[in-house]
Amino acid sequence: MWADLATIGRNADSGGYRRYAWTGADADCRTWFQEQAEARGLTCETDRNGNQWAWLGDPSAGDAAVTGSHLDSVPDGGAFDGPLGVVSSFAALDELRRRGATFTKPFAITNFGDEEGARFGLACVGSRLTAGRLTKAQAYELRDGDGVSLPQAMEATGYDPDAIGPDPERLARIGAFVELHVEQGRALDLSGDPVGIASAIWPHGRWRFDFRGEANHAGTTRLADRRDPMLTYAETVLAARREAELAGAVATFGKVSVEPNGVNAIPSLVRGWLDSRAPEQSALDVVTAAIEAAAREHAERNGIDLTVVRESFTPVVEFEHALRDELGKILGGRAPLLGTGAGHDAGILSESIPTAMLFVRNPTGVSHSPAEYAAEDDCLAGVIALADVLEGLACS
Ligand SMILES: [Zn+2]
Repeated sequence: MWADLATIGRNADSGGYRRYAWTGADADCRTWFQEQAEARGLTCETDRNGNQWAWLGDPSAGDAAVTGSHLDSVPDGGAFDGPLGVVSSFAALDELRRRGATFTKPFAITNFGDEEGARFGLACVGSRLTAGRLTKAQAYELRDGDGVSLPQAMEATGYDPDAIGPDPERLARIGAFVELHVEQGRALDLSGDPVGIASAIWPHGRWRFDFRGEANHAGTTRLADRRDPMLTYAETVLAARREAELAGAVATFGKVSVEPNGVNAIPSLVRGWLDSRAPEQSALDVVTAAIEAAAREHAERNGIDLTVVRESFTPVVEFEHALRDELGKILGGRAPLLGTGAGHDAGILSESIPTAMLFVRNPTGVSHSPAEYAAEDDCLAGVIALADVLEGLACS
């Protein structure tokens, strides 16, 4: 399976994957999924929102055990983020058959559409639509970099964009959804475990900081006469790092725009975007308040006008404790609990149905990059853990 997927959407120059929603590479991934499903006697269907489902047993019986992830990628993404969960799902089914286990509940493997949001700028579109957390009207507003709308892109690949929308009947059939994913951090590497169980997805938000000063000549304006917003911005970046360390959070200024952006001009405006995440809401509140306070203090000292706007916010996602504890029991305490700062379809669905996640060790913690990696032994440990979990949840 890994070899089949290795070439799909791979960019020869970067070595990374470009599997964007509703493109040729995406279609190739979907064909691969269907072939894997059919080779195992599963019934493959695509739902109204473009998510693929491969069923064993009668879905209408209810209380289904579902596993899977996504096959799309970020720009120049790695091989493991998403595909590891889908490949492991098929491999776990093979392992259960090898063990002679029989499913007492319906079982499905999923490939959620447009998880990374690389093309239309919004992550988890397939699961958001299904869970009713993105309306059809909002989805119709989504456009890619070339101005192509989401419905146009769906139509161009032969899907009916008219049908998209919430799918509560489908979700009502699911008793538990388990997503296996490569870890996007080094917690398992540090603890020495190949597989972990997700406790929660950290609360996170994005804030825009506008620092307004006065544009002037870089050669003739005395230092004492300047109102340079770049200085205040730089001090704020340093404060963000300091405050994040104190609060046990992360805080990143990863995007900045400068006006007039001239090499020989003192800027009039520096606009920086802060992304901050923390294990708990209280820590996130503390770190963002402290960063803003530091920015205001420096702004006042430097004669800079500052406005801060919160552009997005996602509260903590606690995975259902009963399911999480059951996974812990099935795995016999061999998988530690860990939180994550990254979003997933399992997080989106957790408001509607019981969801859980397994993480597989990533020795460098690097993800969303061609350097993303998990060792083969750890991937196999992930398959066995997923098979154990599915056997415990849905087999006799
Ligand atoms: Zn992912």
